[in-house]
Amino acid sequence: MAKFPLVRLRRLRRTEALRALVRENKVEVGDLIYPMFIVEGKEIKEEITSMPGVFRHSPDRLPAEIEEIARLKIPGVILFGIPENKDEIGSSAYHPEGVIQQAIRVIKKSVPELIVITDVCLCEYTSHGHCGVITNGQVDNDQTLPLLAKMSLSHIEAGADIIAPSDMMDGRVKIIREALDEKGFQQIAIMSYATKYASAFYGPFREAAESTPQFGDRRAYQLDPPNVREALREVEQDIAEGADIIMIKPALAYLDVIRQVRNTFNHPLASYNVSGEYAMVKAAAQRGWLDERRMVLEILTAIKRAGADIILTYHAKEVAQWLQDE
Ligand SMILES: [Zn+2]
Repeated sequence: MAKFPLVRLRRLRRTEALRALVRENKVEVGDLIYPMFIVEGKEIKEEITSMPGVFRHSPDRLPAEIEEIARLKIPGVILFGIPENKDEIGSSAYHPEGVIQQAIRVIKKSVPELIVITDVCLCEYTSHGHCGVITNGQVDNDQTLPLLAKMSLSHIEAGADIIAPSDMMDGRVKIIREALDEKGFQQIAIMSYATKYASAFYGPFREAAESTPQFGDRRAYQLDPPNVREALREVEQDIAEGADIIMIKPALAYLDVIRQVRNTFNHPLASYNVSGEYAMVKAAAQRGWLDERRMVLEILTAIKRAGADIILTYHAKEVAQWLQDE
């Protein structure tokens, strides 16, 4: 009798029960955060063309949606605002009656335990579409910081649980942390978009949030995609300034960055499975070119295997449903 091979890795792949027993990574609904677009106005629920299944809701249309999210046991949402009025300094971003401030109050009234994270950045609120105020044709880092602090405070005062600055200005975490502490909000966590790359994968988001820059692009403040050591420096800096959760955005083309950050730091790690990643899967699935459910679960599992604890994804609702049906 031939003895070779002694080691047979196939033994534990023989049945689904055996495979499940030795499975190393599993996406759970508790890992997911659902991104939502909130548009100013009334009675609005409109689908985003390049993101089938994702809608812009006006605050009054939120309760039904939020109750569904809670029923699916998704632990939290992250909110992006589309205001009626935009100006040079993004005033509606920090107005107490701004679209996000209204939305937070509605959500907290319908499902108080749902974690409400708010994106903090000016680009959806500025007439020029950049993430900060403009001085002499450039995004002015230091002039932008106090506005980000003001915006964060107004979200927290409306009831948000976590502030997520995505602007990529230097020093924003520190300024926001100090502003929150000064007003007695020491218990409010900051999830920083520590490494946000200047990525082509944001295309559909810009349609959804109406935030395309009117001139130039964001490469003077977002990270250059080829760089990973610089990403580690960004993370190190945000942690030093007091970030509680670190985020890497986008996810799929940056799995190596997630892994390196995971190996280097002990902070909870989030990654954003962005609009372009979602749109590619949806477009191919609509043509019948791939098995959507298997594809989505494989992508999210890869993000988790790379080292993310938390995944922000537009697939959250369908994934939650699939996991419930299993
Ligand atoms: Zn921005």
